Amino acid sequence: MKIKSKLPNVGTTIFTVMSALSQEYNAINLSQGFPNYPSSKKLNNLVTKAMNNGYNQYASMAGNIELRLAIAHKYELLYQSTYHPEREITVTAGATQAIYTIISAFIRPNDEVLIFKPAYDCYQPAIEINGGKTIPIQLSAPNYKVNWSEVALKLSAKTKMIIINTPHNPSGTTWSKDDMLQLQKCTEGTDIMVLSDEVYEHIVFDEAQHYSVCLFQDLKQRSFITASFGKTFHTTGWKIGYCCAPDHLMSEFRKVHQFNVFSVHHPAQKGIADYMQEAETFLGLPAFFQRKRDLFLNLISESRFKCKPSQGTYFQILEYSDITDENDVDFAKRLTKTFKIASIPLSVFNENNRDDKVLRFCFAKTDDTLVKAAEILCKI
Ligand code: PMP
Ligand code: GLN
Repeated sequence: MKIKSKLPNVGTTIFTVMSALSQEYNAINLSQGFPNYPSSKKLNNLVTKAMNNGYNQYASMAGNIELRLAIAHKYELLYQSTYHPEREITVTAGATQAIYTIISAFIRPNDEVLIFKPAYDCYQPAIEINGGKTIPIQLSAPNYKVNWSEVALKLSAKTKMIIINTPHNPSGTTWSKDDMLQLQKCTEGTDIMVLSDEVYEHIVFDEAQHYSVCLFQDLKQRSFITASFGKTFHTTGWKIGYCCAPDHLMSEFRKVHQFNVFSVHHPAQKGIADYMQEAETFLGLPAFFQRKRDLFLNLISESRFKCKPSQGTYFQILEYSDITDENDVDFAKRLTKTFKIASIPLSVFNENNRDDKVLRFCFAKTDDTLVKAAEILCKI
């Protein structure tokens, strides 16, 4: 049988590749982004309780209403922004499904979608399998600042969507208020939609503020926000997330959502809804992760890696040009095999695999793991 691949250039994601290599070589795995400490006992108990209390059949298509109410309440509390729980919030199987569903609900053949590189790896295949064309804007290490005149030049009558991600995976940088205002300015008066991937909204450091698209009235009207409880509640394996958007966008989203997933794991939704009643469950995250970031940075301060402290996410990028001129993929693999520490090379997220000699390390790990990882890094 002859098969013509719809994604001929797509291989296995770097996260799977590096985690598998890490396991094979028994290395410390700071590659794929997931915590290696347990999720909250209280949250686990609430999900178990939901199962025992009968939350075991289909949730409503848009998600358990108590969870949607809790999400709406969070947007009021943090951003004084209203999303109607019935019509403007949908619970999804992680942010990945929300992103795929948004793109497939709106992108038609030859539509152009702007993305900023390095870009999280699920955007481009979703655009291209739907016939869209990715228009990349390459950002440069170490600041990854957007040049807004370049963005203006890349916009065309075919631009249908812009995908943004702040705090940013993999660079650990965040967008300023001015960046958001620039984005608002260059989309004003157009039909361009914005997909704002905000899975790390609660993980920003040094007292900084997260600038959600919902804070900017014109942007909010054209935007989807995607979010992930996997990131927020240290439960990446549960694959529960959500998206918010104004009514006129969300109704189109649900036309696709009802046929590609319909609804997601009900007891986890009910458990998370109960857990979120205490705002400290998400308000405590910046301090929790900043302590880990600072511990990691202190421990590696004597190493030959160079860095700027991560501004958000639970990733720290380290530049290694003082150590070797190997390309980042080879170096990441050698570190895993020989030094027993796994990371993610950034070039795989760049246009034409541009290599800035930087690796990404996940610090959502126990202190003990961070100490052991740092001991290795200081010897390299
Ligand atoms: N976007 C970004 C930037 C991510 O880092 C991730 C990984 N958590 C996702 C989306 C996907 O999130 P989820 O695991 O909830 O599908
Ligand atoms: N978001 C995670 C990361 O950036 C990986 C998720 C995945 O493996 N698909 O490391």
